[in-house]
This record gives sequence, structure tokens and C-alpha cells, in this order.
Amino acid sequence: MRTAVVVGAGIGGLAVAGALARADWQVTLLEREERIRLGRAALLLWPNGVRALRTLGLDDGLDAIATPVPAIGGEATYVVHHEDLHDALVAGLGDRIDIRTGVTVRTVRADEYRPAVGDGRNTWEADLVVAADGVRSAVRQRLVPASVPVSSRVAWRAVIPWYRAPQLPAGVPVAGEMLSGRQRFLHASLGERGSAGASNRGGIYWMATVPGAARPEPPEVQLALLRRWFAGWHETVGTLLAATEPEDLVQETISALRPMPESFVFPGGGGGYVLLGDAAHAFADHPGQGACLALADAVALQALVRDAAPGPALIDALRDYQRACRPRVARLARRNRLARLALLGSLITESLGRQSTRNSR
Ligand SMILES: Cc1cc2nc3c(=O)[nH]c(=O)nc-3n(C[C@H](O)[C@H](O)[C@H](O)COP(=O)(O)OP(=O)(O)OC[C@H]3O[C@@H](n4cnc5c(N)ncnc54)[C@H](O)[C@@H]3O)c2cc1C
Repeated sequence: MRTAVVVGAGIGGLAVAGALARADWQVTLLEREERIRLGRAALLLWPNGVRALRTLGLDDGLDAIATPVPAIGGEATYVVHHEDLHDALVAGLGDRIDIRTGVTVRTVRADEYRPAVGDGRNTWEADLVVAADGVRSAVRQRLVPASVPVSSRVAWRAVIPWYRAPQLPAGVPVAGEMLSGRQRFLHASLGERGSAGASNRGGIYWMATVPGAARPEPPEVQLALLRRWFAGWHETVGTLLAATEPEDLVQETISALRPMPESFVFPGGGGGYVLLGDAAHAFADHPGQGACLALADAVALQALVRDAAPGPALIDALRDYQRACRPRVARLARRNRLARLALLGSLITESLGRQSTRNSR
């Protein structure tokens, strides 16, 4: 039987582990945390993420857990609570996967033999090792040491639960995004729990990003800082921050991989290593798209290796994965770079405009 080890049980790891198991691979899933969980906030499912979930057959009930947010990304964009997405992905794992939690992968055998990873005590060998261990991937560090995570912004996310979600100011759409200088704020309603088309959990999701490093202060102080930094913004922002409790807050640094690995595939034995999700390509965008890309990677990998036997066929399939994913991600990186330059251009014009108004006074 063909064997795969998936390192990391985030969105990408859960999706690909289930997809490979459904294609009759024997899968071992290794996760460093004691419990598999995706987080306490929410995320946007862009059309590519929704398409990927549907292709993976995990769209059953998508309408019940995801709320459309056309105001942000068009008709096919949804917001989903992390816990609802987690439940859907875990249900897709089936009952044949060997799940090992509390295992931190530290060693990677990178030679011509079968791929293998270990935690210092045990070693797991397989035809295929999928590194889905996030932007700080230990597997990638061994295979592509030159690619390192770089962070210059910090984000806060929160879901205000439905039972204490505030009324948004009159006329404000259920979702929207605001930008001023290098600060951004986005909100999207998950609806009321149990109502038609609403998330199981309900509430209002918001996300704020600011330049700088992670704040070491306790959540109460972080919340006070956010209220100060975003004072004077549209009333919606003040209303949402006022209704947020410190325990709702999740702080994360936003990291990009520099440079992005040239290759996502490293053949070895009759198969090899594959980088997937943030381990392969993390962007510092707002709002992020990494979860959707990780789901799309899982779809591509499953489609290409589903019928491949270890040996030349599997190695060819992995090379096809490289050909399918690397250019797609490079295109996205280019598009994001251009969008950033356009934004920078408009900020410079705005600031020059302010300066010349001051000078002419
Ligand atoms: C503030 C913010 C908002 C975002 N919003 C969106 C959004 O709206 N839409 C979107 O599509 N994307 C969004 N993203 C991006 C998205 O969250 C990530 O791209 C996505 O979670 C990546 O999934 P992953 O499975 O590749 O990695 P991760 O989610 O990082 O999962 C990696 C897993 O591997 C485990 N692990 C790590 N190291 C090891 C090890 N050595 N051994 C074993 N296990 C290990 C970790 O514990 C974790 O469970 C956002 C990101 C941020 C920071």
C-alpha cells in the first residue's frame, strides 16, 4: 500500500491527509500540538478555496457553516468560523488515518533513500512526505534553508459571539474593508447562530492589521491600544472594538516567505517530499488567502498522485504538482506585488498632496 506522512494538521495538512486517505493511501498525520485545532477566529473563503472544498467533497453543509460576503470578494466569497471549518476537515479525515498529536518533527532525511521524518525519538518513513507545517516549517528549513519567514506586520482577529454582537450602525453592510495609511480593518458577519444561511457559531468577525511587531502586553492592553489606534475611523470600527472582550482577541504576526522556494518538490526513493500551504508559499497580504491556497494545493496533489504507484510514476506526478502549483503561486505573488506598489503610489501621492496644501497656505 502507498504510504504518506503529513506533517502538520492545519488547514492544508487536514485537507491533504483526508484527500490522500480517500484515494487509498495509508496516511500518518503528525501534529506538534496536543490537540488538533485551527484557531478561535474566522477566515474568508475566496472562490478558489470554495472550489477546492467542493472538489475535495467537503462542501457538504458548506452553506450551513459559511456565510456569503459579496461585499468583500464577490458572489462566491464566504466567511467561515475556524471551528466550523475544522469540524468539516476533521470529518473528511475518515477513520483510517493514523493521527499522532504532540509530535514535533525535527529531523528530515534528505538523501536518495525513502523520505523520512522524525521527532528525535521516532522516525516515520513513507513513499511521500507532505510538509504542511506552516510558515516556520521544519521540513522546509532542512530542504530549502535559504527561504525564511519575514514579518513586518501584526494582525488581530476576533469573533464577537452572536449573543453579544452589537447592532452595526444603520446602512453599514454586513461585511466591508477599510484602509487608512498602512492600517486596515475588515469585518464580516457570521450571522445569528441557527438562522438560515448563517454559521453554526454565528457572531461578527473582524480583523485589524498594523505595521510593526507583535505586542507583548496582555490582551486587555492590546485591546486598549487597538481602540486608540483606530479611534476616529468609521463608527463601525469603534462599535466592534467596544463590543470585543480581551478573551476574544487573537494576535498573530503576518509573515511572508523570502525568497519563495523555487521548488515545492524534492524527489527521494520512489517518491519524495512535497511542500504545501504556508510551508511552500506564505504571503503577507491583507486579508490573507493562504488557507485557500493550501486547500487548492491539497486538491492538486490528490488529483496528481491518486493513481500513481511509488517509483517513476509517483516522481512524475510530483513533478506535475510542481508544474501546476509553482507558476500559479508566482503569478499571485506578482499580482500582490503590483497591488502593493499601486497602494504605495497612492499613499505617496496622498502625502505629497497634503504637503503641497500645507506649503501653499
Ligand atoms: C491574521 C490572518 C488572517 C488570515 N486570513 C485569511 C483568510 O481570510 N483567508 C485565507 O485563505 N487565509 C487567511 N490567512 C492565511 C491562513 O491562515 C494560512 O495561510 C493558513 O492557515 C495556512 O495553513 P497551513 O495548513 O499551510 O499552515 P498552518 O495553519 O500554519 O498549520 C501548520 C500546522 O503544522 C503544525 N506544525 C508546525 N510545525 C510542526 C512540526 N515541526 N511538527 C509537527 N507539526 C508542526 C502546527 O502546529 C499547525 O497545526 C490569514 C492569516 C493570518 C495571519
